[in-house]
Amino acid sequence: MERLFTDIEYNYKTIEERISEAALKSGRKREDITFLAATKTVDAEAINYAISLGLKYIGENRVQEMLSKYDKYDLKNASLQFIGHLQSNKVRQIVDKVDLIQSVDSVKLAKEVSRQSEKRGINSDILVEVNIGHEESKSGIDSDALVELLDEIKDFPNISVKGLMCIPPICDTPQKICKFFDKMNNIFIDISAKNIDNISMDILSMGMSADYYEAILSGANMVRVGSSLFGARDYQV
Ligand SMILES: *Cc1c(COP(=O)(O)O)cnc(C)c1O
Repeated sequence: MERLFTDIEYNYKTIEERISEAALKSGRKREDITFLAATKTVDAEAINYAISLGLKYIGENRVQEMLSKYDKYDLKNASLQFIGHLQSNKVRQIVDKVDLIQSVDSVKLAKEVSRQSEKRGINSDILVEVNIGHEESKSGIDSDALVELLDEIKDFPNISVKGLMCIPPICDTPQKICKFFDKMNNIFIDISAKNIDNISMDILSMGMSADYYEAILSGANMVRVGSSLFGARDYQV
């Protein structure tokens, strides 16, 4: 455990430095970029250690796992978000526990987040997940159908669209992945310019361990980093 914590501290500092560097290189400041740690398979003790180092945002993928760790997170000092594929029938289990749901990709899911939020008298911030590589195996709304989706959900009560999220196809070079990041950034800018009522484009969430630096250069203002911070995931846990 001691050894793991030393690694997390070193990794945290390294990621912070690279985020700062990419922010400056893209004409922004460190504080313009949100560093969210993807915490799937990571135990609460390690997550809270990262929070003690200054980490402010954590993101979980699976409802069951999140609920099992929920009472242990240090949520006085960090914001919990949901970043994984979400089934409509599980929305009610998480809607009052997370500050942002990054993975809304259908009218049906947005409607359920709205309905469950209304029931509890809360407002839920969401991002719309875009399937930027048109991959059949992936969740996310196809970019061609994005504007239509936004138009349909913009007036749903008790939800606010705050931006976009994507997980691009796996690429063997940074140049290839940058094409997807650039495409995503263009979509983000186009939608901002449309000034759709009740839709704000504040957050562009893209970039993971292998490519968060490139994502920031392409315009991301939130990166989601898991294994570079906590080490390789052990799915047996
Ligand atoms: C796991 C995960 C990440 C982080 O992946 P790493 O490659 O380990 O950094 C980011 N986003 C989502 C949605 C994830 O599920």
